[in-house]
Amino acid sequence: MPHTTITYNTEESVIINHTFERLLESLKPKLKGDDEQNLRKAFELAFDAHEFQRRRSGEPYILHPLEVARICHEEIGLGPTAVICAILHDVVEDTPVNLEEIFDIFGAKVTRIVDGLTKLDGLYNLGNENAENLKKVLSSLVYDVRVVLIKMSDRLHNLRTIAPMPQHKQLRIAAETMFIYAPLAHRLGLYQIKTEFEDICMKVTDPDTYQGLVQKVEDNEQEREKYLKKFLAPLEKSLKALDVPYRILARPKSISSIWNKIRNKNVEFEEIYDLFAVRIIIDVPLTFEKPVCWQVYSVITDHYKPIPERLKDWITSPKGNGYESLHTTVIGPGGRYVEVQIRSERMDDIAERGFAAHWKYKGKKGDENVYEKWLDNIRNLLESPNEDAVEFLADFKTNLFKEEVYVFTPKGDMRILPKGATALDFAFDIHSDVGAGATAIKVNNKLVPMGRELQNGDQVSVTTSKNQTPSEDWLKLVITGKARSKIRSSINEKTRELAGLGREALERKLRNLKVGFEENVEILVNYFKLKNRKELYLAIQNEEIKPSELNKKFDIENGNFIPKVAKRKTVHEPRRTPVAPEKIDKDVLIRINDEPTDNYQFELSSCCNPVPGDQIFAFLTSNAGMKIHRMNCTNASNLFTNYGYRILKAEWTKHSGKDFMVELRVTGIDTGPGVIQTLTNEISNNLSINIRSLAIEGEEGIYEGRVKIIVKDKNQLNHVIKALKALDNISTVERISS
Ligand code: MN
Repeated sequence: MPHTTITYNTEESVIINHTFERLLESLKPKLKGDDEQNLRKAFELAFDAHEFQRRRSGEPYILHPLEVARICHEEIGLGPTAVICAILHDVVEDTPVNLEEIFDIFGAKVTRIVDGLTKLDGLYNLGNENAENLKKVLSSLVYDVRVVLIKMSDRLHNLRTIAPMPQHKQLRIAAETMFIYAPLAHRLGLYQIKTEFEDICMKVTDPDTYQGLVQKVEDNEQEREKYLKKFLAPLEKSLKALDVPYRILARPKSISSIWNKIRNKNVEFEEIYDLFAVRIIIDVPLTFEKPVCWQVYSVITDHYKPIPERLKDWITSPKGNGYESLHTTVIGPGGRYVEVQIRSERMDDIAERGFAAHWKYKGKKGDENVYEKWLDNIRNLLESPNEDAVEFLADFKTNLFKEEVYVFTPKGDMRILPKGATALDFAFDIHSDVGAGATAIKVNNKLVPMGRELQNGDQVSVTTSKNQTPSEDWLKLVITGKARSKIRSSINEKTRELAGLGREALERKLRNLKVGFEENVEILVNYFKLKNRKELYLAIQNEEIKPSELNKKFDIENGNFIPKVAKRKTVHEPRRTPVAPEKIDKDVLIRINDEPTDNYQFELSSCCNPVPGDQIFAFLTSNAGMKIHRMNCTNASNLFTNYGYRILKAEWTKHSGKDFMVELRVTGIDTGPGVIQTLTNEISNNLSINIRSLAIEGEEGIYEGRVKIIVKDKNQLNHVIKALKALDNISTVERISS
């Protein structure tokens, strides 16, 4: 953050004070005891501490924590303590103020939260280790959820004001947001914030597509409103007859969710039938919520035919993140599908504000607290003996972000597992001993393989035996973190035993040979090209390495092993296959980090085949030099997240007239042998573009073709795509990225 020696000017002081007073005003109804006094103290402390700092936009830095505090209160619904912490969230990190001072003024609670926020921040600055980062985020979450909620507000404001940042920073922030914060927001039920995260990130990583869709949604607005009126008209009378206060919302879907649909379902914008969802929100006491929601459902389906598979009853069984709502899709006027969400004001509050709102209603709806359960899951995962950060991440993503599947024990108790969980996961979920001892599992009274994926409503029973022990193969049969970590630790136990025996054997041998153990064990590890001592001990125990043959391989001098030279020469080195991607001319086209590329050797990445006009970045690989990728390459987000430090800025220099290969996927209706001809004719004759290869596969009247063509730049490419789309019998044309 840029520092200056200029303090606030008069006008700025007025704005800052005004901003704070407005925040205080809106908090008024929530204030108790000395809350107001503490808020003022926090403001004064932050005001002075950030005095000489400015944001990249030039405005005084203090406006950032104040805005974060406002988001915490107004958009997430947090109370005075969280607001105080939000105001203070950057002081320890960025200014001379330390935690002791905060402790003296505000006491232990505020100090711990601010400390948590500071640690998260420090990690973010260090950058690259996302797995570790995530672990830290989660630990703070388990300690006090407010830390993460404040962090979400902080991230939200930073994203809303991301424009003045240099592009590579924008991309890195976007990648981290998509990796950690958007899924976390989703899991905490902060749907609105999650949506905004995704929209802003898309705007950063794929601005053209984003703007294009914004335009289309706008163009579509009038038509949408007209349709909505037509849809609602017949309903309103019957809804009024229920004599229950209600309101109707119909918001268009977010840009990023529309884009996800277009990509995942491979459809055009115009083909998306549910660009908006209708939401009917009733206002009734808790005990009437469920019956009234179903009454509303009945009204709607009296007028419109429902699609049975699309009925989702999250009132009877709320989602794992607390979401409650009744969803149905009906066939509206003109045969169009319309999604209708029915819920109470309370459910709507929870759906919009998630976690924070949940506390408000806590205890009202009795039996089990979904969040507590979820936090337990996180604790479990954090405590599991997982050495590998990558595995931790994989576990985390499958276990905590996924949708759930609901299954039952033989006694009829419901268990919630992540979607994709197997019969064996279920066994471990019941108890780690049940999992470890499982010998046979029945689903709905039929014996199934232990790796069978569970479906909603399955009833599962497990037979166990004391003699059973988990093996390495079991890891492939489970997806939950709990099961994986239990299996791993029981395998580890076994290998530890074996390694112990191997070590003893080696020690004995070295003692006989009068060779020092500590001094020589690493020599052996290196000689046999093993990863660590443990592998050496295991190899000895498995008789892959025989201690009795060590003196054939080594000379012994002064109690140390010296590898026999002759032997070493005959050791067969596996030959490396040379990496040979398509090289392109060196005098090209790209500036990296604002320097001409004579200074760098680079290649265009073959996963996304960039052409001039594409937004690009350079990535320094560990063994194949510099690669140029497209910003919207499917690998980009992974690279930015995990190897941000290897990313360099890259841009095309002036036009060069060189050739670039791109690959297109074309799908369409198979009209027989004419397809290939139509394509080649259009591309090479009408457009005069070179085709490098063309492959077509057809099935049931649909074909999919892959065409590699040579173009000069993105304009020419777009021209080709447009021309192909205009052909008869062609449904989609898209550029392939890995
Ligand atoms: Mn901040």
